[in-house]
Amino acid sequence: MTRSPAAAPVVLAFRGVDIPNYDVITNCMHCGLCLPHCPTFALTGLEKSSPRGRIRLIKAVADGELAITDGFVDEMHFCLDCQACETVCPAGVKYGSLVEAARAQIFQGGHESFRSKSFKRIFLRWFFSDQARLKSLARILRLKDYLGITWLFEKTGLLKLLSKRLHDVQSLSPQISSHFSSDVLPEVISRIAKPEYRVGFLTGCIMDVAFADVNEDTVELLLQHGCEVVIPKGQSCCGSLQAHYGDRQGARQMARRNIEIFDRYSLDYVIMNSAGCGAFMKEYSHVFDDDKNLAERAKRISEKTLDITEFLFMIGLKIPDRPGPFLSSIHGNKISYHDACHLVHTQRVSQQPRALLRSVPGIRFVELPESSWCCGSAGIYNVVRYNDSMKLLDRKVGHVKSIMPDILLTGNPGCQVQIQYGLQKQDLDIKLMHTATFLRRVCETQET
Ligand code: SF4
Ligand code: SF4
Repeated sequence: MTRSPAAAPVVLAFRGVDIPNYDVITNCMHCGLCLPHCPTFALTGLEKSSPRGRIRLIKAVADGELAITDGFVDEMHFCLDCQACETVCPAGVKYGSLVEAARAQIFQGGHESFRSKSFKRIFLRWFFSDQARLKSLARILRLKDYLGITWLFEKTGLLKLLSKRLHDVQSLSPQISSHFSSDVLPEVISRIAKPEYRVGFLTGCIMDVAFADVNEDTVELLLQHGCEVVIPKGQSCCGSLQAHYGDRQGARQMARRNIEIFDRYSLDYVIMNSAGCGAFMKEYSHVFDDDKNLAERAKRISEKTLDITEFLFMIGLKIPDRPGPFLSSIHGNKISYHDACHLVHTQRVSQQPRALLRSVPGIRFVELPESSWCCGSAGIYNVVRYNDSMKLLDRKVGHVKSIMPDILLTGNPGCQVQIQYGLQKQDLDIKLMHTATFLRRVCETQET
């Protein structure tokens, strides 16, 4: 880390955190209670790879005592942004906001490799900011799989533009769905004359093109629970991936679109089935608290946003008197649950899914050891830091093996892809499902 005494204090203002004020950083008592909960500290044992060490680095950069060097950039991106440190911090340090502010400064200042910048600008911003563009890309990727022309993408260097490791981690890329959920789900759906709730639903980006079935299951689950479901046309990716990787402008652009579109409808709630998207939509109010025109509407959307398990816990799971065949097919099964970081640590949603699962008759719910320890997926972490990610995945799969559930559930697409990869590598016969898919099937009637 090189010193830069002449550097002016760096302004890291993002999501309500103005670092030169040190309000958040100075809360850190350097107690170290977060260290045993940090996956990257567990990997290296180095202070600089711990939450406390990174906070010191961010403060030094914000003070102008340290320049933004390659080492600083690497440390900020080595962090998973899992926010496990926030959950245990007695001082309430908003670590996630700090590291995202630091990444925003890195991105805005151009302190990254050409490959990394290209990936963020072309892939995360250009493709993800427009649903039609993302679908076109997804169709090409689907065609590539059907025609077996992966070699063409490799030879032309197209894949390498996204990541030099993408060739090695293709198994970690989600399979593109045979259709996209936003193409088949109507704008407004209801099965009953007087719905109890009018809820909005975000089809998302990856969820839409690679987890269309989970989106359709979630909508069906909402219909099973007496909701009218509104799926606004023209909605955008939530912006969370862009925010987590420092592209503040791209994230705000996508968030703005969603706020404007969802706020046109009179909704009771906005329901999410992806932990990262839900976490970020709940933070829209902070993203726009400096924007007089949007702050009120952003706050309204944030306050209405709930994960599907939060919503079902609140209204009560409706298991039918005459359940469909799925419930009897899982009678006596051992069911377990992996906490997605942005559900358990960022949204603090952990008891609700467990309570729902424990209420399902005939199954045995078994806790997964270290269920809230990151699986190594972390957005695109498994693509850009494959080796570190695989060490975390091995730890996760080791715990899964220790209890050998029949079905393992989770509420985030990234965790699903990552853990599925780990289960396949070890040839484990364990079914992995999204919580919404499992609950939808549990709530099916014989007539469905
Ligand atoms: S971030 Fe919190 S838990 Fe970690 S050292 Fe600082 S005060 Fe202690
Ligand atoms: S966000 Fe996760 S990886 Fe990063 S410092 Fe906190 S606990 Fe460690």
